Amino acid sequence: MSVFDHGFLYGDGVFEGTRAYNGRIFKLQEHLERLYESAHHILLDIPLSIEEMKEVTLEAVRRNNLRDSYIRTVVSRGPGDLGLDPAKCPRASVVIIADKISIFPQECYERGLEVITAVTRQRPADTFEPRLKSLNYLNNILVKLEAAHAGVMEALVLNTQGYVVEGSGCNIFIVNKKGELLTPPPYLGILEGITRNTVIDIARQEGLTVRETPFTRHELYISRECFLTGTAAEVIPVVSIDRRTVGDGVPGPITRELMKKFHDYAQENGTPVYGD
Ligand code: PMP
Repeated sequence: MSVFDHGFLYGDGVFEGTRAYNGRIFKLQEHLERLYESAHHILLDIPLSIEEMKEVTLEAVRRNNLRDSYIRTVVSRGPGDLGLDPAKCPRASVVIIADKISIFPQECYERGLEVITAVTRQRPADTFEPRLKSLNYLNNILVKLEAAHAGVMEALVLNTQGYVVEGSGCNIFIVNKKGELLTPPPYLGILEGITRNTVIDIARQEGLTVRETPFTRHELYISRECFLTGTAAEVIPVVSIDRRTVGDGVPGPITRELMKKFHDYAQENGTPVYGD
């Protein structure tokens, strides 16, 4: 990579994180669509068609001989000069990393996470669109730093109106006292996660009521269950928020059921890497 790449100099670029489970890439089409939508938003021409990108993604996993993998696709503006002007960057850089990821220790999936709510707010959607998965993740890094300084592994983010939006790199769900599953709606300013959308579908198939609705810290604190979703995080329970115990302080039955259903679904669905 050139030191003049505007992805490095300015965070001018977009990215995706995708997983392969059991030799199949999970929701590859959805991840690539989101990547191309983000690129379109910033007027970045990806020098590959979506079909070609699919092929090289599969090839990257194959060359690394992986069946379970975390794939990072990065498209940056490419090398230019030291000014901001993207017109001076004739060709985008495309990088695909096929590796592994583990952002929380295994025991957190069994016992649940303790989290805080961060002081750092989500940047308002009318100034910085959170649906755009850009290389500018500094706000998210500040959130992650707050978590570490509070001695926990993750922090939740509120928007400037005080509604809960997401985690540092994951979406949030709570179960209320009626047994409904609530998650913030995309218009509040979240990245509309592919894991989130899959969990919503699975929960509805299981007969749960799922509502995409705004909620505040109060609903968080009195929630019966809480969990986070993301490609890297998968589905992970939350058992304490700002020191308030969630439910019984252990991963609840709805969370555990959805973790299992998500795991089973991910094992069986996806684009085969090595042929069927
Ligand atoms: N929110 C943010 C800010 C993220 O970076 C991610 C990870 N891509 C998510 C939510 C979860 O999205 P997904 O389930 O598509 O990985």
